[in-house]
Formats: sequence, structure tokens, C-alpha cells
Amino acid sequence: MRTGRLLLAAVLVSRGAVAGEAPHPELKVTLSPARAAQGGVVEVVATSPWPLASLVLVDGERRVPLAPDAGGSRFVGLYGVDFEAVPGERKLLLEGRDAAGVEVTGPALLRVVARRFVVQRLTVDPRFLEPPPEEKERIERDRQEFARAFASSGPDRLWSGRFAKPTEGTPGRNFGARRVYNGRTRSRHAGRDIASPSGTPVAAPSSGRVALAGDFYFSGGSVVLDHGQGLFTMYFHLLCLDVKEGDLVVAGQRIGAVGATGRATGPHLHWAARVLGARVDPAALLSLPRVP
Ligand SMILES: [Zn+2]
Repeated sequence: MRTGRLLLAAVLVSRGAVAGEAPHPELKVTLSPARAAQGGVVEVVATSPWPLASLVLVDGERRVPLAPDAGGSRFVGLYGVDFEAVPGERKLLLEGRDAAGVEVTGPALLRVVARRFVVQRLTVDPRFLEPPPEEKERIERDRQEFARAFASSGPDRLWSGRFAKPTEGTPGRNFGARRVYNGRTRSRHAGRDIASPSGTPVAAPSSGRVALAGDFYFSGGSVVLDHGQGLFTMYFHLLCLDVKEGDLVVAGQRIGAVGATGRATGPHLHWAARVLGARVDPAALLSLPRVP
């Protein structure tokens, strides 16, 4: 067995040695879709001519590890297009390495397409626009807790099957909306609002781990689910929470109920998603291919 492994390593090293003279055997990369709107989610599939120990997708400063299928020559991952990403061509690179350290690369070209975003005019309690000084500390603590949660995702995919809508009601068309509060432009809306009566159950759209569960100044009763590999989904303004941080949840499991807590103008679910820091349309997750 030991000899067999050494032999295999020797073969891989010799492949690397000839690679200096012949062109590198390139990875075959498929982006679905290859044209993605701002806020879109892209499935990346890379296949290698031989098994690899690791594979990362390189996007400028970002390095996104992809997960291998059994066998180690096919890798799958998600790439998120932030809703404020600049439209145009985006050159991505896949860098793989086998057990002997031989590098395999493959380019991928993504076209980011501009998307139209609505403008929403809202009237809210002025204390949410200019929070009172005594709340500053709490708001900063909330911000740090969210940052800690978003840094907690591991390399394993925790979800399988398909993503489902988290509650009853039609998701609003307000993803990425420019928000004008009390007559002044304040922010962009990084999620979709689903109007539902207070108390309507909210369910996990797929399996994952509870990365954050608590009460926050702006988002009220909130749950952040980590689905692994940097994919997070979020549920804000909840009336009550049925999970706590660290819990593992399965698809369809109740995590809370629709409410109007935090900065909310009425009962609704604020539903949002992130893929490795990119703020994406949570509804884009519903059309991802089924994973085993
Ligand atoms: Zn919202």
C-alpha cells in the first residue's frame, strides 16, 4: 500500500516536471449562469484531469475554497455577485493543487449584468435614523456580533437538496432597493421583505447551523443561519426565536415567527443572504440546482 502511494506521488511529480515544457493541463470550469445580474448567485463547477487536494476560486483579493466530490477531481462551490458589484466582465481564476503540490489552473469569465432596483420611500420613528447616544454602544456591540457570525463559516457544505422559501407570503420586489427614510436617502436594502401576519412560522430554508440568534437594535429578533462554505441566510424582525446559537437545524425546522421588532414599519420577515461577504438576492437561492 505504502509503495503504491509512493509510486502515485512519483507519477504526479513527473507530470509536474514535464509541465514546464508542455502547457499545464487546465481545469475545465463551468459557471452557471455565466451572465449573472447584480445580487445573483453562480454555481461554479471545476473538473481536473486528476484528483486534487484543494481548489480555490481567486477573484482579486478574494480566495474562495471549493468542496470536492468523492474522488477529488470534481469541485463545486457558490460565487456571489454583490448587489453593488460593478457591471462588466470579471476574470476569475481557479487554482488547484494535488497531493504532490503540482498546480493546475483554469480561467473563468463571468459577465456581471446591471439590474434595476426600486426606490422605497418610508417613514420611520426618527430614533432609528439618529439613534440616541445611549444606544451607540449597543449598536456597535450588535455590529461586532454580526461580524463575528459572518466570520464563523467553515469549509464544509452543511446544506443539501434545494432551498425553500422561509415563510408564507410573496417575497417583495425590494431587494437592493434605494431607501429614502423620512425624505432622505439613507441606505440600500440588502434583502427581500415578505409581508406576513405577526406570528406566522418562519422555517429554515435548508439545513445549517445557527450562527447568531438574539435581539438587536435595528434588526430586532434575528436569526443568522450558516449553511457552510460562506453561505449565510438571515431572518429579521422576528416576534420570537425558537433556536439558539450553535443549534443545528434541518430544512423546514421552525426557527421563529414573523414580527415587527427592531426597525420595522409593520409585521414582515426581512429575508437576506450572503455568499462569502457578497450581499445576494435570497430568492436566487431558490433556483440553485439540487445538491445531493
Ligand atoms: Zn427588509
